[in-house]
Amino acid sequence: MITRYHAGWVVPIAGRPIRDAYVDVDGGVIVEVGRSAGAGSGRGRDVDLRGCAILPGLVNVHTHIELSGLRGEVPPAPSMPEWVRRLMARRAGSAPDAAAMRRALAEARRCGTALVGDIGNTRAPVAALRAAGMPAVAFRELVGFDEPDPAALVERTCAELDREAGHNPRLRLAAHAPYSVSPALFAALRAAAERRRLWPLSVHVAESREELEFLRSGTGPWRGLLEELGRWVPGWTAGTPSPIAYLDNLSWLGPGTLLVHGVHLTDVELRRIAETGATLATCPRSNRWTGAGVPPVARFHAAGVHLAVGTDSLASAPDLDMFAELAELRRLAPGVPAAALLRAATLSGAEALGFGASHGAIAAGRTAALIAVAGAGQADDVEEYLTGGVRPQDISWVGGEDRDSG
Ligand SMILES: [Zn+2]
Repeated sequence: MITRYHAGWVVPIAGRPIRDAYVDVDGGVIVEVGRSAGAGSGRGRDVDLRGCAILPGLVNVHTHIELSGLRGEVPPAPSMPEWVRRLMARRAGSAPDAAAMRRALAEARRCGTALVGDIGNTRAPVAALRAAGMPAVAFRELVGFDEPDPAALVERTCAELDREAGHNPRLRLAAHAPYSVSPALFAALRAAAERRRLWPLSVHVAESREELEFLRSGTGPWRGLLEELGRWVPGWTAGTPSPIAYLDNLSWLGPGTLLVHGVHLTDVELRRIAETGATLATCPRSNRWTGAGVPPVARFHAAGVHLAVGTDSLASAPDLDMFAELAELRRLAPGVPAAALLRAATLSGAEALGFGASHGAIAAGRTAALIAVAGAGQADDVEEYLTGGVRPQDISWVGGEDRDSG
């Protein structure tokens, strides 16, 4: 049976917002979107949400559910290497907190998140995402600057992913960052993704200034940390100060790459990212917390990169609220159209995670992972309204209820 949801606004993302519109849903799938002519569809049930705006659930492309137990435990730092030291000290020896992961995913859902890109170093997030029924890509992240046999490590990891594979989440590979992953390990991950069709790949890049120094001269706080950990490789040089040129040389840039942060990228690097079709994920609240800096959101937009949005983990963000992340983006980039920010937080994220055909937009044939935002139905500019901060209590999920009844 078709349910017709009438709303003050429907924000399809794939097209301009439609005032006084409806979305028809059948069996959890969107069957029609249009302008309301009057009362009912005459084909089934009608639901009056005229005080609301309906939009696709948001897509959080970068978080680390595994770190949920560290909420509020790793205070902000003046520089990112300093923050990572605090994180490592706090994390040492502690296993992922299953209850905290469960709460975090419930919170993400309550705040309107329909799809997640999660980075994990253990298998714990896979179980948590599966139990929560949260559609997701779970990236297994590898770290290894002095890894003696990168190919064997990647093979072992792929075998583990094969054992854990199921309907949801989709399991993929990630490299941590240029200062913690050797060129040979980058190459082995790239080769495995290619061979086993494990796209996308993900990597943190240009998050801190110190990373640029490390790539330029092999010096600075990241070198210091590697030495302390006994992981530094004497004689190592990157040969380029540009993180993007570095990844480009490793054939890591392309439509199947999710680059995370990019706080310290030049316009030349941003244009190169746009050219390759890679997606850049920005997490502005985390960047401030970790001391990484302020992401140049307006320059991201001007360069034409595919931009997506993440909250990062609860170790470096106050919550997993994507609407709060959007509001921060709005504050940082008042000149970027609200429509572009909304697209980044929905369809662009879904596309980057390989869910571009089902999630992130409202159109016939797509999954009805939709939210209704109370109070937005009467807004004059609904896109500005939605990027201005939406309270969790004003969000309700729509489109799923008829899935249960058939
Ligand atoms: Zn991260």
